[in-house]
Amino acid sequence: MNNPFTPGSQIYRVYEKLMDMQWHCTKCDLEAAQAATFRNMKLRGVQFDTDEKGNEYKEIHCSTCKVIRVHRKLK
Ligand SMILES: [Zn+2]
Repeated sequence: MNNPFTPGSQIYRVYEKLMDMQWHCTKCDLEAAQAATFRNMKLRGVQFDTDEKGNEYKEIHCSTCKVIRVHRKLK
């Protein structure tokens, strides 16, 4: 799997983190990336795993920031 984004950019670093195919807290692990970052990924064909309601994210408890927060995972 190759990172399709420009090295050094935030979107590149966020994608690097997601490449392990695990759920990541958007605040702690993904540099508090904004929705636009994930939209741009989708425009490049990146697919996100969904929660049981079909959302392309999951609200789960983060062991680092200790609250329920949006997590993202590649599909
Ligand atoms: Zn967190």
